[in-house]
Amino acid sequence: MNMVNELSQLIFPQRCIGCSQLGFLICSSCRTSWHPHIYKTHIDNLEVTSSILYSPIAARIIVAAKENNEKNAQDLLIEALRNILKAYRGNIQTLTFVPIPSSKIAQRKRGRNFIKELCSQLELRYADILFHERRVRDQSGLSAKERSKNLIGAFGVEKLPRIFGEIVLIDDVVTTGATLREARRALLASGLRVSAAITACVAQPLR
Ligand SMILES: [Zn+2]
Repeated sequence: MNMVNELSQLIFPQRCIGCSQLGFLICSSCRTSWHPHIYKTHIDNLEVTSSILYSPIAARIIVAAKENNEKNAQDLLIEALRNILKAYRGNIQTLTFVPIPSSKIAQRKRGRNFIKELCSQLELRYADILFHERRVRDQSGLSAKERSKNLIGAFGVEKLPRIFGEIVLIDDVVTTGATLREARRALLASGLRVSAAITACVAQPLR
């Protein structure tokens, strides 16, 4: 370790993103909760592939990446998505990813569109064509039914670019699937068929 690193370790000691324990980027106990795997769920007939089971630790990592712009946490999300993309090996060039957009308020607050940024860091071919047509309530704390109602007509499609190959939606978490369902509806209304979706995490939906 060089002097600068040693100094910065003294001044800003590394803490686990999951539990704030001093020492590692992610400690071995949190690592067991953030363990890339392949999970398939279905939203109607849309296949969603995810990498991590959502947990309080996963929630902290996502907030750190999304709201606090912590590079280490973003790297964990990228690692989770890469794990899924490995399964697309061979035909990834035939896909166009469509990122689920952050709300305008969140984009302004964060100064960026989070999922779009992940797409570009993953060097995926993507089309940033979805936008929020209207204001929606924060989804956390809403039931499955409320979520789907909250999102009816939420997304619009910006412009119709030439889309190459199949369209795959990409987001950080899938819970009830209301967001992915609405994104698919909006794209279909513009004549674009979605063939699959990937998300870093999959959460047990609230009933
Ligand atoms: Zn930890």
